[in-house]
Amino acid sequence: MILYQPFKFSTLKSIAQEGRWLVVGTILLAVLCLAIIWLITISLVLGERRQAVEQSILASQNISSIVAADIDEVFGRALLYAQLSSSALKPNGDTPSIPAPLTFGDSAYLRLAVFGSNAELKYVSSRGEIEPEMRELVRVVLQDSSALHRQRRPFIGRPAANWTIPVAVPIVSGDEPIGVFAANIDLGYLLRLYKESTSSKDTALEVLDFHGQQLFEIRGGMVSDSDHDALSSYSGVIGRGKKLGRIEVASQANNITRIGSYHILDRFPIAVAITRDSVAVEGELTERHRSYLWRGILMSVVTILLSAGLTVLAQRQRRLYQELTESEVQKQALIEQLEQEKARAFQLASHDFLTGLPNRMMFYELATVELARARRSRNLYAVYFLDLDKFKAINDTLGHAVGDLLLKAVAERLRGALREYDLVARFGGDEFIILVSELNSEERASKIAEKLVDCLSAPYLEMNGHSVDTTPSIGIALCPRDGQDIDTLILNADAAMYSAKRSGRGKYRFYDDSLNTSSARSLELLTRFRRAIRDNEFCLHYQMRISLKDLRPVGMEALLRWQHPKHGLIFPGDFIGIAEEHNYITPLGHWIVTAVCTQLAQWRDAGNPLLPVAINISARQLSDDSLVDVILSNIREKNIPVELIEIEVTESCFLECPETAQRVLEKLQQAGIQISLDDYGTGFSGLSHLKQLPISAVKIDRSFIRDIRNDTSDAMIVSSTIALSHNLGLKVVAEGVETKEQVVHLKTAGCDEVQGFYFHRPAPASDVAVSLQNFGRLPVESMRAYA
Ligand code: C2E
Ligand code: CA
Ligand code: CA
Repeated sequence: MILYQPFKFSTLKSIAQEGRWLVVGTILLAVLCLAIIWLITISLVLGERRQAVEQSILASQNISSIVAADIDEVFGRALLYAQLSSSALKPNGDTPSIPAPLTFGDSAYLRLAVFGSNAELKYVSSRGEIEPEMRELVRVVLQDSSALHRQRRPFIGRPAANWTIPVAVPIVSGDEPIGVFAANIDLGYLLRLYKESTSSKDTALEVLDFHGQQLFEIRGGMVSDSDHDALSSYSGVIGRGKKLGRIEVASQANNITRIGSYHILDRFPIAVAITRDSVAVEGELTERHRSYLWRGILMSVVTILLSAGLTVLAQRQRRLYQELTESEVQKQALIEQLEQEKARAFQLASHDFLTGLPNRMMFYELATVELARARRSRNLYAVYFLDLDKFKAINDTLGHAVGDLLLKAVAERLRGALREYDLVARFGGDEFIILVSELNSEERASKIAEKLVDCLSAPYLEMNGHSVDTTPSIGIALCPRDGQDIDTLILNADAAMYSAKRSGRGKYRFYDDSLNTSSARSLELLTRFRRAIRDNEFCLHYQMRISLKDLRPVGMEALLRWQHPKHGLIFPGDFIGIAEEHNYITPLGHWIVTAVCTQLAQWRDAGNPLLPVAINISARQLSDDSLVDVILSNIREKNIPVELIEIEVTESCFLECPETAQRVLEKLQQAGIQISLDDYGTGFSGLSHLKQLPISAVKIDRSFIRDIRNDTSDAMIVSSTIALSHNLGLKVVAEGVETKEQVVHLKTAGCDEVQGFYFHRPAPASDVAVSLQNFGRLPVESMRAYA
């Protein structure tokens, strides 16, 4: 289950990041807006000012041209008057008849005067003192040698008071200058004509000399003399060869820029300038510009407020996201922790802590899923139930640490021997379960089982300083043949494993018996079973048990044989399993009890010395009380002392139906029958378990005895078993003793009794009778004669 979707966190993180950018972006945008607003406002203001200036200059150009033309014409008239006045210099001395300009309406010319070549006044149109400015001009004209060449051009003098300016024209006779015509021109009059166009105070119409020095000006409708303090000259502007031009001059005195244009007269070194205060020009725009300014300010304020609002909002959002992110981080950490714990809990719950393999629960889960696929597959699925032989004994005697190491090593070997996707699980204790998928044949399943037996049977070295030997017993159930659900398959594989255990250690068995190698023969035996009991095809062989104290026989074990008419003598390993599976074991068991008792009676009647005979009892025979009845009734019938009957049971007897088995065995024990625990070390219970069992002896399985001399772990198990059994007051019998060395070793270890080919091979009753006759007289070693 996905508790949390991590992408949300990263989204939040990016949103928080975006929040920061939103703030920065808003500020930048605001700055940009402000810049645009003010750029537009300023360029608008400047543009309009520029435009106003241009317009003003343009307007002034028109006026200055008109005024210049007028003045040029007025000054030009001086030539005409000069011509007319030249008669005053005629030698006849007539009073010249020079018309006074006023008489024909020329108000510009105030006084006309003619001077002789020595500057003597020859004629004057009005009375009064000749102005010094006129005299000076006349002198200048007379002294000017180049006057001849410019005779047609009037000279202009310094302006005099009353806004007049003297003008002089040389009078020439032939090449000889004979006098000078001079006149006072009332510029004031002239300029007053333009009063209208200069009515505003800031507008000035100025008359300038050729150097740009002001001669007169009319400002605010008032004509005034030059005021050099008020205005700087336009010397820098005028007289650079251009007749017309613009003026933009800043007055140094009051820092007012005057703008306008000038126009130099065509024929006279005089210029007319029309100028305005820039302040006045721009002043007209002030209102409008102020409104622009206000508009700009208003827009700026709005922009700032808006961006401030947005920034605050973005900040708040950012903080919110930040808090959210932090809480998300914490949540994420918590979830991760939870998930880790969950995973750990799941691992703990689903896996075996020791081997790391899946446990029973997990196996069921995974196998169920896997088997769902099996339904659609044409191949086989095999469940292997695997149990380690001797494990309990190893665990009990070598210690749990060794047992644990062994289980780990087994788990490792299993994993190594199988494919990656095969399921291996520990089922508990020394049981492992395996599911192998998609096998194309039963043969393949056998091959795998063989491989597992081989790989698990190799010695386990370095198990906490011990070298340990064990073998697996494997039961195999195939899907779909032996079951289609995991429960059935496990159950059947388990049953097959029991069957494998019975047939010896390190074996595998299929659940479906027909798949086992001896299946055909098993079937044949099975079909003949009932008849075999009836026809007395079974017989008993007896094997002596020897006391290690004095090396004398102390008992016998009855071992079943089937004298098959076709196959000859068949050993119990080949048919006991079948008998157990098909419920023949109880009648067979009864037959054995009867046969043993009958045999004992016969030996007694023949006068043979008698030894107790141990009968092997199967688990199934302990499921009801019939065994007790059969034994006791046979004993009574044949009048046999109860001490001569012993029974041997395996641990499996206590597993299938523990209460009944315990009760039956207790009854037998109470009746005086000795009970031994057979095949000890291969079963499921530990030594501690022995305490509760109604037994008097333990028979150590022959698989421990075989390598007792070489295998340190087996030797250790045997000696520990002997010591512990003695502690519990139990007798110890070693099975499968085949060599002298084993005898010596077992005697040294304190073992009580031995059984095996070394002393005596199982033999028919008739052969045993001979041994019995010699019983008590034979030297110990000579017992071997019967082996
Ligand atoms: P078991 O009870 O452990 O019997 C001892 C087995 O060890 C016998 O095999 C015996 O022949 C064999 N044996 C004895 N000494 C040696 C030795 O030195 N070396 C080796 N390699 N083997 C030795 P057997 O007779 O084939 O019996 C096999 C098993 O069949 C028995 O194991 C017992 O579990 C079962 N069985 C035999 N007779 C009966 C019976 O009457 N009733 C029942 N229920 N089971 C029986
Ligand atoms: Ca036995
Ligand atoms: Ca045995």
